[in-house]
Amino acid sequence: MNNPDCIFCKIAKGQIPSTKVYEDANFVAFLDIMPANKGHILIIPKKHYITLDHMPPDLTRGLMDVELKMAKAMVNALRPDGYNCLQNNHIAAGQLVPHAHVHIIPRYNGDKVTIDWGHESYEGTEIEELAKKIIDKYNEENKK
Ligand code: AMP
Ligand code: ZN
Repeated sequence: MNNPDCIFCKIAKGQIPSTKVYEDANFVAFLDIMPANKGHILIIPKKHYITLDHMPPDLTRGLMDVELKMAKAMVNALRPDGYNCLQNNHIAAGQLVPHAHVHIIPRYNGDKVTIDWGHESYEGTEIEELAKKIIDKYNEENKK
């Protein structure tokens, strides 16, 4: 379940260097080499999954556990004014490395980081129709 061409698989296997801050049987966390702010952490599953929805649910729950622990450790160590937890899926969403990962970014009042997605607006009943589409699909995919 590893991709020989994947940079994060290589980091998981220790084949290329990284500055690790956490490791267990399923996950590795390390510092981003081009951080949005210093102390920017990446968390990856050791196995190669392209995006979050490719991961088995048990593993995504584990990922969230590590995310929480690493966010707390970073906040207590660096005392930022805030932090972002982000996860990009596919190129259209800004994913550059096609191996699922979570970003934890320390934030400071007045820092230069921009996470700006602008704002769309809904017309008429569009918002209810869109919600129904999602609910129907959720119900279809989660039938008991
Ligand atoms: P994304 O745009 O969500 O795919 O984020 C990928 C992140 O991986 C970027 O913030 C890069 O700076 C970071 N990155 C790429 N290669 C490495 C590496 N070898 N070690 C640490 N971070 C990396
Ligand atoms: Zn990989």
